[in-house]
Amino acid sequence: MKTYTLQDQTHAFIEASPQKFYFNGEWHASEKTIDVIDPATASVITQVSLSQPEDVANAIGSAESAFKSWGKTEPSERAGLLRKLAELIRRDLPILAELESIDVGKPIGEAEGFDIPFAAECFEYFAGVAEDTEYEVDLGLELTDSHTAKIPYGVSAFVFPWNFPFCLCAWGIAPALAAGNTIVVKPASETPLSTLYLAKLIEEAGFPAGVANVLPGAGSVAGEALISDPRIKLMSFTGSTEVGRHIGEVCGRNLVPAKLELGGKGAAIVCSDADVDAAVEGLSGALLFNAGQVCCTASRWYVHESVYDEFVSKAKAHFESIKLGRGLDTDSQMGPICTQKQMAKILECVAEAQADGAEVICGGKRPMTGELSQGFYFEPTLLAGDDSNKWAQEEIFGPVTFLIKFSDEEEVVERANRNQYGLANSVWTQDLAKAKTIAHELVSGNSWINAHNVFEYGLHYGACNQSGCGGGVNSRATFEGYLRQMSVAARR
Ligand code: NAP
Ligand code: MG
Repeated sequence: MKTYTLQDQTHAFIEASPQKFYFNGEWHASEKTIDVIDPATASVITQVSLSQPEDVANAIGSAESAFKSWGKTEPSERAGLLRKLAELIRRDLPILAELESIDVGKPIGEAEGFDIPFAAECFEYFAGVAEDTEYEVDLGLELTDSHTAKIPYGVSAFVFPWNFPFCLCAWGIAPALAAGNTIVVKPASETPLSTLYLAKLIEEAGFPAGVANVLPGAGSVAGEALISDPRIKLMSFTGSTEVGRHIGEVCGRNLVPAKLELGGKGAAIVCSDADVDAAVEGLSGALLFNAGQVCCTASRWYVHESVYDEFVSKAKAHFESIKLGRGLDTDSQMGPICTQKQMAKILECVAEAQADGAEVICGGKRPMTGELSQGFYFEPTLLAGDDSNKWAQEEIFGPVTFLIKFSDEEEVVERANRNQYGLANSVWTQDLAKAKTIAHELVSGNSWINAHNVFEYGLHYGACNQSGCGGGVNSRATFEGYLRQMSVAARR
């Protein structure tokens, strides 16, 4: 097997095994550890200490104490620390990209070009929003001399998934910290490394002890302790719909607002007048990004019958040209699936889809020869069939899409909307007026035109139906969601 040399600092970081967790400005360990696996080779990268309920309780206590002063800092002071953090992320971009690549399996170029710099930008964006927000808004009313005061909630809890550990963490915590909340973060057990490295940078940036705390731990142990603690004032969860529903229930009992960013099964509608080459390229790129482990990807492709054959043959050629390989290999266009469990799930979904009548146009299996057979790889897969197939409607979370032929553009919008999720859809047509009409009719948090996976700070990314509730990320509205509104009034 080809060997890869990590940078000295990346190497030194993973050598410090078991990795400790961070709260109250200090590094702690527990007796229990977990192996962190490289999905490209199924080998152990390092071990991480798993936080226990008492650690989580202590972390929440330290976040509660730290809030007393952090919640009252000037926005410019918080912004200064967030910008410092962004600077440190950029300084250590090569280390962070390597950690993300070996832990998640993603091509190093994706980590270097997207995950890490986009996270740095997030801290800068919310630093700016914190500085130009009006925290007291005069209401100009007749009977009262009154204003709205915007005040941070207190301790905000975060639980993250394994597909974009670093970037999703930034999307979550940057607005919370910028608004003056303190945070307790539980990364996914499968991919804790870049979040632990972020904790190191938070410490180096000089955030006061207790303001930001990072504790890997099992969802059923540390996760439960975090979500059910009555001292948390806000909950933010990114992950599966199933766990999200449970977290919503637990928080509901405590009357803690919960922001849930969950799964999806995005539809793409390729109209008869679409630029077929652009649609094939855009949708394939979106589906194969991060080996399809992207909640907002499009994995139901409705293609008009007049362009269907051309579209399918071009998509097949594209899928078959993709070079699978280890994330650290700069030639790789798609890495392995992040976990063995997820790879097994994808295999099962494809088998069930086939049993239910779907045709496998390409892919559908793991490569079983050579180096690739040792990792959790899965071939880019095109399924085709009827949208009554279970796996045309349920999230697979892998490099698998379902092709569905349609003939009527009005009817197809209705069919696309007959799905439990509501995260992100796209429409592909050269008629921009039609595109806008369809984009508005599709029920979801995000509707994209002639593109899929469109992100920019300031552009709100949210969800509806089974894809989530309680807010969304990346915009000024997200920031406002981390401030409670209080009325202050005196009778005139
Ligand atoms: P998951 O199984 O829901 O796990 C997510 C996180 O929840 C992990 O940190 C997990 O801990 C933790 N957890 C599990 N049970 C818990 C409990 N009882 N209490 C508290 N925490 C608990 O999801 P996943 O498999 O990691 O991620 C894939 C899913 O996330 C997909 O459905 C995808 O669509 C969704 N996703 C959505 C978005 C979005 O923005 N809408 C973004 C990314 C991913 P452990 O790691 O210890 O199990
Ligand atoms: Mg891993």
